[in-house]
Amino acid sequence: MVKRRSAGGAVGGVPEHAAGSGATTLKRAALQDADEPTTLRAAWAQTVELSPPGTRRWLLLVVVLSIVGGFAETGFLFLLASISLALAGQADTDAITLGIGVSTNLTVGASLWIAAALLTVRIGSQVFTSLITSKLSADTFANLRTRTMRSFLRAEWSLQSTEQNGHLQDLMSSHISRVVLSLSAVTFALSAGFNLGAMLLGAFLVDPIPALSVMVAAAALFLLFRPLSKRARAMGRRQRTDNLDLWELVTQMIVLARDIRTSSAEDEVLELSGARIDRASDSYRKANLLSLILSPLFQGAALGLALVGLTVVHLAGAENLAELGAIVLILLRSMSNAQTLQSQHQNFHGCTPFVSQLRKRLHEYEAAEADRSGEPLDHIGTLGVTELSFAYTPGQPILHRLDFTIEHGEAIGIVGPSGGGKSTLIQLLLRLRHPTEGTVTADGRPVAEISLDSWYRRIAFVAQDANLYAGTVAENIAFFRDIPRERIEEAARLANLHDTVASWPEGYDTHVGERGGAVSGGQRQRICIARALASDPAVLILDEPTSALDVESEAVIQETLEGLRGTRTLVIVAHRLSTLSLCDRIMVIEDGRIAAFEPAADLARREGFYQRALERSRSAAS
Ligand code: ADP
Ligand code: MG
Repeated sequence: MVKRRSAGGAVGGVPEHAAGSGATTLKRAALQDADEPTTLRAAWAQTVELSPPGTRRWLLLVVVLSIVGGFAETGFLFLLASISLALAGQADTDAITLGIGVSTNLTVGASLWIAAALLTVRIGSQVFTSLITSKLSADTFANLRTRTMRSFLRAEWSLQSTEQNGHLQDLMSSHISRVVLSLSAVTFALSAGFNLGAMLLGAFLVDPIPALSVMVAAAALFLLFRPLSKRARAMGRRQRTDNLDLWELVTQMIVLARDIRTSSAEDEVLELSGARIDRASDSYRKANLLSLILSPLFQGAALGLALVGLTVVHLAGAENLAELGAIVLILLRSMSNAQTLQSQHQNFHGCTPFVSQLRKRLHEYEAAEADRSGEPLDHIGTLGVTELSFAYTPGQPILHRLDFTIEHGEAIGIVGPSGGGKSTLIQLLLRLRHPTEGTVTADGRPVAEISLDSWYRRIAFVAQDANLYAGTVAENIAFFRDIPRERIEEAARLANLHDTVASWPEGYDTHVGERGGAVSGGQRQRICIARALASDPAVLILDEPTSALDVESEAVIQETLEGLRGTRTLVIVAHRLSTLSLCDRIMVIEDGRIAAFEPAADLARREGFYQRALERSRSAAS
């Protein structure tokens, strides 16, 4: 059943549907360096760490319930055997004989009542265990989802920006599901294990010799199965790696489909994917076979144990038929517990790599939490940097000792060859990244002293890729913030968007469609500008806002920016010179250095990047 479909490497039958999209975007590297625990104890510690607070206490309760339930069940089975015997052979006397060498005068009627009470205790303990399991599962889901979302959103941009597309979904669905499965496996295993222990102890009290010999045989069985279980786990790991190879290829298909067609590489890709599919299916077959075979083998071996018990009783000579019947019943029941123990052990192991990965990623997010402390800021006048250097990789600076000041209300254009460091500088001004050396200042005050929240209330950003989310135009301008409709419309007017939106039948309630598919590129960009203006920022920073747009849309955006000029500080990275005509000063950044920072008219007279660019655009025009 579910075992058949488990493809995520869970030999022990972790249901694939619970694993969500599976390991689609997991990278092999992530799988290898996820601090995968090598011992059961370490794996267990990782699961507990990700479980809700108080989990240990609940598990302790499960243990107590299982012991009570186990004894109750033993007593029940024992009475059952005695009653059957009384009904079959001694129906005339109405009194039954108990084992352990004790004879009582319990009537069949009284025994039935006691049996019913014991059964109730047993059922009660099972129901309560189920309640605990479902509570723990639901709490784990909620806790981990909240923790994952929170730690991701609170992490530094430098970490957020490295996150692969789809990985967060994977963490939120498949990885968290595995933690839940792993915790359930622990609960079930504890329950089955202590139940088994209590029953065996019960059997031991009834008649030590057969019970003891069965316990010894069970231990031998466990040792016998160990190598097989190990092998199953190794197969599971291989299956996972093979699947990852396949998923890596598959995830790229959507992006590459057009290029594969136009390069006429379909056959080659099919061949490559075919080879990977075959490899994955081969390891799946082996792992699955082992997993499927393990259960019946174990069941058979466990039934064999019952035979062992009977043989011992036979050889030792049965003293009491009721005892014998009870022991056989108890042993049969113990076997189902032992099997649960075995399969939950497998389940648990199937989950551990995912648990480790989630734990590792959460630790990374949490270690990279952005510092939100600092003082409030109610006004930005000048904006500047002093001795600012930055390196993505230590020792390889991208920006070299920059120094400049931008006056309040100035419009600044930033130009320069691609890769020169313009976007990096913007990210530093936005405090998305932090200087390796030097400082960013507002009114001469280091921005590190200012709280991020108040910083982003005064400074806003528009990127080249205008990201909209599935919602209405108004929602996209408000962007999760509590902004009244008048402010939204006011921002849309400033962004030259209002007339367009007002002409749509549903106006601001028009749905922009998934990822903004329903509106044009220029409209999308203007929605993003309106979003930035909705908080009425003192500084507006734009990184190549028009480079993805056609000439006409660009003209509208330029008009918008001209309208904003003088009302707030504008910092515009642009690759088209036309965008820069509205700027008071232009900064040329080449190789991470400021090559020039002066009015356009002065720059045009000087040999350099700007003059060359001007000449190029003139000769293109003529
Ligand atoms: P520009 O915006 O002027 O085109 P960038 O600031 O984007 O330039 O890039 C400057 C340099 O920094 C380039 O050499 C680029 O390869 C490098 N770079 C940009 N982003 C990263 C990053 N996230 N990690 C490492 N290097 C980066
Ligand atoms: Mg750039």
